[in-house]
Amino acid sequence: MKNIHNLINCYFISMQGMAAESSIYKQYTIVCSKVNGLTMDAAIYIKNAEDFMCGNGNHGRQANMRYKRLGRTNLELSVISYGGLALFFKEVQEATALIEAALDEGINYIDCDEAGNQFVPAVVYEDTRNKLGPVLKKRRNELYVGIKTMFAKKDDVARAIDKALELVFKGTSREKIDLFHLAHVDIDEKLDLLMSREGGMAAVEEAREQGKLDYVLVASHNPTVLMKALKTDRFDVAEFPFTIIEQDYLKEVVPYCKEHDIGTIAMKPLGGGQLTQRADLCIRWIMNYDVDIVIPGMKTMEELKQNIQPGHTYVPLSAAELKELDEIARPIGQEYCHRCGYCLPCTQGIHIFSQFDLYKTSTISLEQKRAIYKQMKERGAKTAGDCVACGLCIEKCPFKLPIPDIMERADKALAGE
Ligand code: SF4
Ligand code: SF4
Repeated sequence: MKNIHNLINCYFISMQGMAAESSIYKQYTIVCSKVNGLTMDAAIYIKNAEDFMCGNGNHGRQANMRYKRLGRTNLELSVISYGGLALFFKEVQEATALIEAALDEGINYIDCDEAGNQFVPAVVYEDTRNKLGPVLKKRRNELYVGIKTMFAKKDDVARAIDKALELVFKGTSREKIDLFHLAHVDIDEKLDLLMSREGGMAAVEEAREQGKLDYVLVASHNPTVLMKALKTDRFDVAEFPFTIIEQDYLKEVVPYCKEHDIGTIAMKPLGGGQLTQRADLCIRWIMNYDVDIVIPGMKTMEELKQNIQPGHTYVPLSAAELKELDEIARPIGQEYCHRCGYCLPCTQGIHIFSQFDLYKTSTISLEQKRAIYKQMKERGAKTAGDCVACGLCIEKCPFKLPIPDIMERADKALAGE
């Protein structure tokens, strides 16, 4: 079986950039059922091979990167693309250099994120303009761009689209948003509002008719709400957190997307910064499954080189590596917030999982975390320190996390007092 797997992998490597004969791969579906002892369906693996090889168009493509069709959008994106959140914490020059280096390595999609933009709407897209803007002016034709909004009401979303176009895309060779994200669709109330007559989806569809954007993405941390959104058949792409700790999406979301030709993007592949010690294993673990692309955040050239590697040559995890990843993930999973939002609303108005994220992530320094926490307090946002330990959120959390206890520890660490 290993030989068959190696043979398929050789085709991956030797046929990069070439049109493949799908039948070459299909024949292996007859003989493979398991690869390397992992629970990976070889038929899926073969289908991935077809997807990687059969794309057309040269939008930023480099010979050493693998590309995959993002569902019905027909965009051919690098299997490792860029999670832009990491860039938010970088100086402009450094961020721009990282984006350019990523393009040179064959990455052709950047998923823009502005940390906390739900809290500071007045400055949303300015960070993206400053860091990505200069690259887009020169190299727009080499990359696709995803831009998100946290808003749900029609007027707010319409304003967000216009603002993104004005700040980020104006003056480039394609003044259009490739993938517009309706983000953090984690609770039923937000989805209902988005899809109502006065909801953001109406603004998105109008903008699409006016040629302001091409495709619509729904991003969610809650597989149940995400499924409801997808069943409206108004989204082209689904984005969701996907790690060895967060596998719920495999049950319904991933098969549904494949069946309905909806693109899939794995976000937070390093568990929101909690699994960074073996980033390589995390990314390769994701690639065992039928998800189109992965968007790790990369905040140094070293991380970029390391995280991009599985995009060049994919080697499935060995049984020993799988065991190692499992051992790293298990203790984290015991206190892991899935950002599903069931605990909300907090009686004190705390955005519970944002506080979890800030406390637990290792992608930014403690100093940076404290600066963000301080800013939140100054703006009057409720923070972990406002928890009164009423305990109502614990009852609502499907994972029964000890939220008040974690809020207390988070405040202690983040307030730095
Ligand atoms: S225990 Fe704390 S975080 Fe949970 S609902 Fe009560 S105040 Fe909010
Ligand atoms: S604390 Fe629990 S309910 Fe709240 S977002 Fe995290 S996992 Fe979900």
